[in-house]
Amino acid sequence: MTIDDAPREALRGGPRELLRWVATGAAVSRADLSRLSGLSPSTVSQRVEALISQGLLEETGAGRSRGGRRPRQLAVPTGGAVVGAIDLGAHHARVGTLDLSGRVVQARTLPVRIEDGPEEVLGALLAEVTALAGAPTGPDPEAAGGAAVGALRGIGIGIPGPVQHATGRIVSPSRMPGWNGFDVAAFCAGRVAVPVIVDNDANLMALGAHRTAHPELDHAVYIKAGTGIGSGVISSGRLHRGAQGSAGDISHCRVVADPAPACSCGNAGCLEAVASGAALVTALRDQGVPVSDLTGVIRLIDDGDRHATALARQAGRAIGEILAVVVNFFNPQVVAIGGRLADCEPLLASMRATLYERCLPLATQTLLIERVAAGQDVGITGAAHLVIDHVVAAGGRQA
Ligand SMILES: [Zn+2]
Repeated sequence: MTIDDAPREALRGGPRELLRWVATGAAVSRADLSRLSGLSPSTVSQRVEALISQGLLEETGAGRSRGGRRPRQLAVPTGGAVVGAIDLGAHHARVGTLDLSGRVVQARTLPVRIEDGPEEVLGALLAEVTALAGAPTGPDPEAAGGAAVGALRGIGIGIPGPVQHATGRIVSPSRMPGWNGFDVAAFCAGRVAVPVIVDNDANLMALGAHRTAHPELDHAVYIKAGTGIGSGVISSGRLHRGAQGSAGDISHCRVVADPAPACSCGNAGCLEAVASGAALVTALRDQGVPVSDLTGVIRLIDDGDRHATALARQAGRAIGEILAVVVNFFNPQVVAIGGRLADCEPLLASMRATLYERCLPLATQTLLIERVAAGQDVGITGAAHLVIDHVVAAGGRQA
């Protein structure tokens, strides 16, 4: 199973957008959808019927009457159908099931050893997702009826490395020994009978954060700064992947750094070698500070350690330099930073200062610069939306 390559639907009122309006509560009836989309009632009805027949929408009795016949209310089904999501990191994976509106039903964090290789890691995570989908859900599992495995509509997987969009294959990841060239989509297709969609983790964070916090904004850039560093781009309201799927991969953009540290890609002075969590760990160790991982670095920064704070500022400046080029070029409405380094105040402050210093006034006049607010479930939320969009588009093609 590869990715959703459905032709781009009309910007207003496509099936995905109708579903989203109902899911977010913006619309509860066909009349609402007609008003929001500007589409005729008959076109809306046709699309709603198609969504109902796919099990993506349901009718829930009568709404408030305005004098005439009481309108039937629309809702996203809450019982049963779920999508699975895996947000894989270097040391942990967040795994969950979400309903068809993108709300988390169940989620848990599992320790992962990425160096165990793709078969072992993905095999275990797929088993976990299908187990979650099969487990009874809700505060009262008996009453909720439990979500059967058959109710799993698809699985979205985020990988902390470059993913070729058309094939679902991993290409030259840093810090993922044994994963280069691995065909995640084909591996998963052999193990589960539902569509599996693979993307990189920054794209999933971007999609999750955009749908959660700013679905009304058309142009946005999301930086994911954790062990690695990357970004996801929302253009005209949609995830922009580019020709191969590498759009937004800023990890090997060169920044001003003296000395320029060597990067895993063979070059020196890459953003990832200066500003990623892994780079901060290495730099601190080189200065003789005993620190074993990113958690230790963040603790030092929080404690006001001089070396760690200076490195965090340098990282923020480096991210700001690259981001300034992106902002000048792309003119987004919002730039948001997520990942574990997003909570480091010194990093955020110097990134923000560099952005204002280096960007055109017109580009920053109304630009929102903020933290990604959706927390640890933002990646699985993005993964779920990827699958929901795919299910809607696939249904549309069959119709
Ligand atoms: Zn590099």
